[in-house]
Amino acid sequence: MTTAILSALPEEQSSLIHHLSRPQRLTHAGRAFWTGDMEGRAVVLALSGIGKVAAATTATALIERFGVARIVFTGVAGGIGEGVQVGDVVVAQEYLQHDLDVSPLFPRWEVPGYARQRFGCDPALSAILLRAAGDYLASVTGDSDQEIPAGQGAGTRAAPRLHRGLVASGDRFVSAAEEALRLRAALQQGCHDALAVEMEGAAVAHVCHDYGVPFAAMRTISDRADDTAHVDFAAFVQTVASRYAEHIMLGFMRLLQK
Ligand code: SAH
Repeated sequence: MTTAILSALPEEQSSLIHHLSRPQRLTHAGRAFWTGDMEGRAVVLALSGIGKVAAATTATALIERFGVARIVFTGVAGGIGEGVQVGDVVVAQEYLQHDLDVSPLFPRWEVPGYARQRFGCDPALSAILLRAAGDYLASVTGDSDQEIPAGQGAGTRAAPRLHRGLVASGDRFVSAAEEALRLRAALQQGCHDALAVEMEGAAVAHVCHDYGVPFAAMRTISDRADDTAHVDFAAFVQTVASRYAEHIMLGFMRLLQK
């Protein structure tokens, strides 16, 4: 039972490679994959690449070539939900492609052939990820009760919080406050209350749905998808996000054993 840990950016992945025993690097489909053991369990570490197509190819390779039994994603995202701040962590419950629009043939955001707009993450795997993220944030802040229900913002605060709910993916880096507001309002009109926006998760959720492979995903909020998103993003990935990925994924692998 091999577990795949998928990251979008090298900075998010590099800290994890140091925790591999028997590390081996393989190239497949123009991508580097690292195999080995982490916390006594077989893992494959991979970079998804940026955007939905790259992520779908990587997820397919993990399933077809490496036969992984589950995929867990760690990455960063722009916070668009109320009270979703830089430094918070979002564990995805469901995914939607915000740039998919085959209307008027199908309702906006519906994936043709699937009669649905959202793909769900695996509840059991997501519960383990939520616990690992909660344990880590509690160790950082000393606050053991940081989880807030989906859609309920907690206002401005310094301590990072844990959220779970809908995440929207699309092939755009959302870097204007006006665009983020427009996107959020449009999604809300369709009854989709998205917490965060990123560029890969919905593609991986779709591939995992097709293959029946359990999928869970967490995103550390690197920016607010607004006019300073690109500035916040670069600094954040280097410092905070890679540390979060390292600790939360190690915790996740430990909890998987029980
Ligand atoms: N600087 C990187 C490119 C980053 S693209 C490079 O040069 O390679 C942004 C990545 O972070 C994507 O993987 C996406 O999933 C996530 N992300 C973070 N903030 C985002 C936002 N505001 N909009 C869309 N994606 C975002």
